[in-house]
Amino acid sequence: MTRVSFEFFPPRTAVMEETLWSTVKKLQPLAPHFVSVTYGAGGSTRERTHRTVRRIAEETSLQPAAHLTCVAASRAEVDAVIREYWDAGVRHIVALRGDMPEGPGTPYAAHPDGYANAAELTAGIKAIAPFEVSVSAYPERHPDSGDWDADIDHLARKVDAGADRAITQFFFDNALFDAYRERVAARGLEVEVVPGIIPIHSFKQVKRFAGMCGASIPDTLADRFAGLEEDEETRRLVAAAVAAEQVCDLERRGVDTFHFYTMNRADLVYALCHLIGIKPALPVPAAA
Ligand code: FAD
Repeated sequence: MTRVSFEFFPPRTAVMEETLWSTVKKLQPLAPHFVSVTYGAGGSTRERTHRTVRRIAEETSLQPAAHLTCVAASRAEVDAVIREYWDAGVRHIVALRGDMPEGPGTPYAAHPDGYANAAELTAGIKAIAPFEVSVSAYPERHPDSGDWDADIDHLARKVDAGADRAITQFFFDNALFDAYRERVAARGLEVEVVPGIIPIHSFKQVKRFAGMCGASIPDTLADRFAGLEEDEETRRLVAAAVAAEQVCDLERRGVDTFHFYTMNRADLVYALCHLIGIKPALPVPAAA
């Protein structure tokens, strides 16, 4: 049976908060396996993540997964957050190394008393409580990996530390995902690798994210959005067609689990779920 999960980011303003909760309300009846909430660098950003995760746990039927990074925190500080999540009923953490506060591209320097990377963090989480732990995976290799062997070795460290699944960075060429799965299988890793899919609400923004995280944008994709900068209606239709094409092609390649980067918006993700047979499992909420 096809399974989906959704990723949100913690809202910064009251208006963004309202958008997030109406998105959560719209997507909740699709009964995702879990919904995850990203984690930032600053103290206030982190507090917003904790608040959002707790609210999902308390006010919805959804299973929240809290992203957690090793950045700029000691092991004791990170462990305290992990324990707070367990006490709040959260049972799933997306364990990440993270990037320096200056952003991706700045060489990573671990906190002197901190977890050095996601493998150490995964082991630390599992030592505290039997959380489900998801980790990252990179169909185009993480920029810090010198070569493919180093990249897959690091995934293997995370799996050895107890990771239950790996969720990929977004990608637009499904052949990259197939090649990645083959590398994982060739290394003998039995971990589930879930494709991370980003619907393109804003091509400009996705291009910027891709530049930061080392994901490639095929020329054919850029061509499809070229000239539509001032034409939102067509852009939205193209975005829906592009995402549908990618997801349905992955389905044909045997993929039955998808992680959607929602950007806190429901429309495209809801439609994509419908296409792959994920329809409301709970009564649809009455219109306000
Ligand atoms: P790791 O998997 O620990 O390591 C990344 C790379 O560093 C490895 O591939 C390897 O090349 C190298 N490396 C690390 N340790 C070693 C070692 N001991 N020996 C050799 N090489 C090593 N960022 C956020 O800030 N907040 C989020 O909420 C967030 N969510 C994400 C969700 C997903 C699904 C993904 C794919 C990424 C997310 N990121 C997030 C981005 C992520 O933090 C960055 O990509 C970061 O640069 C690496 O984090 P990681 O967990 O992949 O690191």
